[in-house]
Amino acid sequence: MIAEVIVDISGSEVDRVFDYSVADAPEVQRGSRVAVPFGKREIEGYVTNLKEDTDVAADKLKSIVRTLDDYPVITEEMFELMAYMRRKYHLRIVDVLRLFIPSQMRGGRVKELKKQYVSLSEEFRSKDLDEYIKPSAKAQRDVCLFLCENGETSLTEMNENFSASAIRNLISRDILKVGVREIKRTPYKNMDESSEKPHTLTPQQQSALNVVMSGQSDTFLLHGVTGSGKTEVYMQCISKALADGKGAIMLVPEISLTPQVFKSFKARFGQNVAILHSGLSAGERFDEWRRLISGEASVVIGARSAIFAPLRNVGIIIIDEEHDSSYASESNPRYRTYDVARFRADYNNCNLVMGSATPSIESYYNARIGKYRLVEMPERVNKRSLPHIDIVNMSAEFAAGNNGIFSRRLESELYECIESGNQAIIFLNRRGYSSYVMCRSCGYVAKCERCDVSLVYHKEENVLKCHYCGNRYSALDVCPNCKSAHIKRGFVGTQQVVERLAQMFPDKEILRMDNDTTQTKDSHATILQRFASRKASILVGTQMIAKGHDFPDVTLVGIVDADMSLHFNDYRSTERTFQLITQVSGRAGRDSKPGKVVLQTFTPNHYVYRFAADGDYKGFYEKEINLREVTKYPPFALIVRILVTSENEDDCFDTLKKIYGDVMEYVNAHKEDFAYAAAMKSPVKRIQSKYRMQMLARITNGADTALDAIYAATDKYRNGKTVCFVEVNPNNLS
Ligand code: ADP
Ligand code: ZN
Ligand code: ZN
Repeated sequence: MIAEVIVDISGSEVDRVFDYSVADAPEVQRGSRVAVPFGKREIEGYVTNLKEDTDVAADKLKSIVRTLDDYPVITEEMFELMAYMRRKYHLRIVDVLRLFIPSQMRGGRVKELKKQYVSLSEEFRSKDLDEYIKPSAKAQRDVCLFLCENGETSLTEMNENFSASAIRNLISRDILKVGVREIKRTPYKNMDESSEKPHTLTPQQQSALNVVMSGQSDTFLLHGVTGSGKTEVYMQCISKALADGKGAIMLVPEISLTPQVFKSFKARFGQNVAILHSGLSAGERFDEWRRLISGEASVVIGARSAIFAPLRNVGIIIIDEEHDSSYASESNPRYRTYDVARFRADYNNCNLVMGSATPSIESYYNARIGKYRLVEMPERVNKRSLPHIDIVNMSAEFAAGNNGIFSRRLESELYECIESGNQAIIFLNRRGYSSYVMCRSCGYVAKCERCDVSLVYHKEENVLKCHYCGNRYSALDVCPNCKSAHIKRGFVGTQQVVERLAQMFPDKEILRMDNDTTQTKDSHATILQRFASRKASILVGTQMIAKGHDFPDVTLVGIVDADMSLHFNDYRSTERTFQLITQVSGRAGRDSKPGKVVLQTFTPNHYVYRFAADGDYKGFYEKEINLREVTKYPPFALIVRILVTSENEDDCFDTLKKIYGDVMEYVNAHKEDFAYAAAMKSPVKRIQSKYRMQMLARITNGADTALDAIYAATDKYRNGKTVCFVEVNPNNLS
């Protein structure tokens, strides 16, 4: 028998299988992880196929050294998924396979945790102690008495509490027997395991559940306002899958994956739940993964990569907060979670449910055109109204002589909130490091004439750039609209906000949560815990604090610079702003106390603020989808970037030029299908000493064939000197 093996070497362009004999490892199966000789080394690989014959000469054919696990690590479903992802994204086999197993498992960096146990041997259990131990051997008698009463106990524990030599002696006489058992490293072991009963569904939840249950391998978009009880609907979908003897995959954005979330799922589904999350230790992650592949657990909760969990027989897939940008992988291997989820739903013939209070424009559009089935939950479970949002015009503040971070309105609300013993959250949006340019007097924002997206100020060159077409504009000194010289570049940081708050409230504790303060594993949880326990009065933070946390005493939310996300250089910036405001506002007034939101902006009349303040998602959608149609952005176009990087500028240029040549041939033959196509230097010309050049295209028609042509060109000119990637609707165009 011959095995085809894909070898796991990083940083190489090898993308093919090699034949090996299975003579030395007859237990090999398709999907086994194996050790194979490769050149002078021994490396890991995966068996992708078994066959009778090979073209490799008998004296050249090497043999698999051994299998590395007791079971195949790649299931049949995953092989098919691999083929699909290769077709769709032109990925290397090994890059796909690596998504399927815990990274620490590769190279043997984690192993099962095994422990030795001792117990009294069978034949001594019914005997009287005096029959086999002398009365004088006190230490030995103690050991046996303990084991008689307590049964099997870990050897380490026994050695700690009893005489080690007595134990050794008893083992040597076969009075005690030693067994080895695997210990599963359980994440959040110390969490209290109180069980939780399902809520009785509200009529709104019940009808949502009924609709999902009526589906057959359908995609549902569950649009439910914050607090409408989507989680309960998800849980009952999962219960149904379990009752049918199937499993469930539930995805949540990484930053919303709090211990509370796990706790409520554990409370409902007990040991059936496995958690996959980057905050786990390597051992924990490995063990959770094995509980899934062995079928011991059949529900998985995790971030994006949990979509690759090795469950068999999936009964439902849920993507919560479906609009979240973390569901797209933007580094190698690039993929969209939705595509993978849909593939698995088809394979398993199960439903896919995507939920959000603020669905992405594309998903809502898909629901409108009937590609997804729309399920709506417009009311909160407790019927409480959403918090009131106050829009404050910062240009007016500036005109009135207030130069500070906070408007007078937000300051007075803060005093009132803190003095009456409540808590406040101050939110600062922060995406990337780019900054827009804005007039402080009239709110004018510099935009690209061609692309209608905000320009990015590049400090080192002192120019404004469009990240969609590469156009450069000179930096502004005076506002072209009102001639004011008060041009704002850059942004306020969390640090500055905390300093200002410390002046206002010298004897209150103020917490800060951003990338800088959450570097260590538990810092995130520690900060939230401190705020929840009411030790601190104010929490200042970025996106991280926008989601999922429930603080009953928070009555005020301040959004310092709402424009920050609005003027991000991205066609989705308005959509993201709507989502953020809705989410952050949802932090205020969760409990019986009513909440208030103060939103500061230089463009108070922008439609996004009005729709957000009214909680009018549909109104916002209508406005936004019309704009997208007119300006030719997704879902009415596909934005494609071909990114070429290399340490050598000439190689980079050469490769891009060749790709560009081929692609332009296609573009010229299909002119009417393209809104735009051009090659350029990337906005950020070098990252980590690699030159970056790109070709951008906006495809309005025939996207599939156009993509085929683009992939064909990149595959053709891919070489050892450059790295080429095709990105579709990327979140970031730096
Ligand atoms: P969403 O995810 O839609 O924002 P949640 O799932 O967080 O909403 O639900 C909000 C709150 O309502 C939670 O505290 C949840 O326990 C509670 N809840 C959900 N469904 C019910 C129900 N049928 N009866 C009572 N309380 C419910
Ligand atoms: Zn102006
Ligand atoms: Zn442009």
